[in-house]
Parts: sequence; structure tokens; C-alpha cells
Amino acid sequence: MDIKIIKNSTPKAKPDQNSLGFGNYFTDHMFIMDYTKGIGWHDPRVVPYGPLELDPSAMVFHYAQETFEGLKAYKAIDGSIQLFRVRDNLKRLNISNDRVCIPQIDEKMMFEAIKTLIEVDRDWIPSAPGTSLYVRPFVIATDPYLGVRPASTYKFMVILSPVGAYYKEGLNPTKIYVEDKYVRAVPGGIGFAKTGGNYAASLKAQVEANEKGYSQVLWLDGKERKYIEEVGTSNAFFKIEGKVYTAPLEGSILSGITRDSAIKLMKDWGYEVIEQRMTIQELKDLYEEGKLEEAFATGTAAVISPIGTLGWNGEDMVINESRIGELSQKLYDAITSIQYGKDEDKFDWITKI
Ligand SMILES: *Cc1c(COP(=O)(O)O)cnc(C)c1O
Repeated sequence: MDIKIIKNSTPKAKPDQNSLGFGNYFTDHMFIMDYTKGIGWHDPRVVPYGPLELDPSAMVFHYAQETFEGLKAYKAIDGSIQLFRVRDNLKRLNISNDRVCIPQIDEKMMFEAIKTLIEVDRDWIPSAPGTSLYVRPFVIATDPYLGVRPASTYKFMVILSPVGAYYKEGLNPTKIYVEDKYVRAVPGGIGFAKTGGNYAASLKAQVEANEKGYSQVLWLDGKERKYIEEVGTSNAFFKIEGKVYTAPLEGSILSGITRDSAIKLMKDWGYEVIEQRMTIQELKDLYEEGKLEEAFATGTAAVISPIGTLGWNGEDMVINESRIGELSQKLYDAITSIQYGKDEDKFDWITKI
């Protein structure tokens, strides 16, 4: 693939590495490639970061035909640049694309796009502890048309955002609200796809949970409204009498790459990890019996997020005295050590660029 590079002639000043936050700053360049039905993907290019000009009738604005991914590039301790499980993210983007009728994109082509863009903007990768460069590939439908059908033109793009350490002073247990009014996904729906509609559907629940003093929601299944699914944009795990439980991948939850990494590590350490449906009532009963030892969520942004409180039915379950669990801490340390090149990459998760 021949990627054309047009350099930004007015690069921006880099932000302070100690106050990056998440998703606030963008680098000097972006990657764009177009799709036209009958031609395929064409014109791959790195261009100066900036606004797009799109027809107001572009289909993505009206019917949300779009997909996205999120992964991180790390400045390793030896100074090299490491991507974590990038092949899995690109595979998942094509799974999402298939669900919303966006044409498949060659995974090698997407990798070249990400690699080239990061090389052009490599000075933007922060090096302060816990920081990284968040990579956001996405696809949008661009036909100027108001009928409902799959588009025949698209843009695949990649933007980069230097992001801060999620936790400045160690892992911070969160307060999570068990959502019993709104649902995120239903069997046969789009829950397993990283596509905009899922997030639009989740906002109201998040806002109402925030108003009640919780930071995120734990979703229950959309059909019977009792099986535990996932937490906001992360997957949920519960340690019960030494065994670890998480929801199975049955189409309504996102197949998290951090989820998979955590499962592989825990199995390697000898834990029994059980992917099985569990109702919120079952979890509450186990909590009452003193058997719920730890709860945590997994996702690219925070890696591991201990759950300190679960609010359900007007009562709060306070888990592990709202302290960071031993397993949560161990997983966080193990995954981040691989990401920053401090530990051996025994699962072949790292791609150096
Ligand atoms: C992205 C996402 C996750 C976590 O996936 P990772 O690959 O671990 O980042 C979990 N749930 C939802 C709904 C998501 O969008």
C-alpha cells in the first residue's frame, strides 16, 4: 500500500504530560482512506489533523452507520514504541463492520495505516509514567443520501490522542449503579459491535447514575433484565470463593481485549475462570453470604478498574471494604508491565513499530 504523506506545516505545541486526561488532545496528523463501491478502498493518506468537510446529508449523521476501535501505543522502557494486541482490535473492527454492513478492510492495510501515522507523529507519544498514545480508528458512511440502506461510500480514518495515567494515585475503586430501567443491548442486536448507536443508547443511564452519585452503570441483559452483562464501556468480573466469574460472549456484550487478556493471565496463574451467566440476585445472595471477594472491570482506557460499591434496589453492596483487591492489583500490574515492556511478552501481545 502506497500511503501519501502530507506534512503539517503548522505543528501544535505539545500538551503538558501531567494533565493530559483522556481524549482531550490530538496530534498533528490523521490518516484517511476512501471507499467507493466498485473500486474498493483507495487513496490512503496521512494529512494534517483538521476538520472534515462532509455533506450535511452524509448518511453517518442520520443513521449512525459507523464503527470504531480503541487501542494504545506505549513508549516502552527501552525507548521503542509498542502496540498492545493491535491485530485483535483490527479483527474486531471488521466484526463490527460486518454487523452494520460496512465493507471489510484488509487488516494489514489498517495496520500499515496506524504504523505510518504513529511514525509521523511519534514525538507525540508521551513518556511520563502511565501515559500512552490512544489510537482511534473509525469508519463512517459518507453518501449524501437520506434513504435507509447501506452506504456505497465510506471513510476509514485514524486519529491519535496522547492520554494520561488513568489513576494518578493507584487504582481507585468505583461506585457502580446496577441499571434496572434502561437496557443497552438485546439478543440479535448490535451489543457486540463497537458502533456509535450503542453509546448513544447508554448516555441517559450514565447521566442518571451520575446524578445518584455513581460513576457508571452495570448493565443487565435486555430481555429478562436480571443477568449481569458489562459495566459502561468495560467488562465485569467477580471473584467468588476464589473462582472468577464473567459474563459469556453471547452477542450482547463487547468482546473486550482486556477481558481476554485478564482471562488468559488468570488461567495462567491457576485461577478457575468461569464464563457463565449470573443474575444480579445471585450475586447479591453471594454478597450477603460473604462470598463475594472482589469485583473489577476491564477495558483499554483504565486497564483494570476495581468496583468498590454496587448499588442495586436501593441498597449498596460494599465490596472488599471498597479497597483494591489483590487480584485486581495483580492483573493491573501484569498487563501494564507487558504494555510498557517491563515484563516478557509470553502471550505474543506486543507489536513493536
Ligand atoms: C471497548 C469496550 C469494552 C472493552 O474492550 P477493550 O477491548 O478491553 O478495550 C467493553 N465494553 C464496551 C461496551 C466497549 O465499548
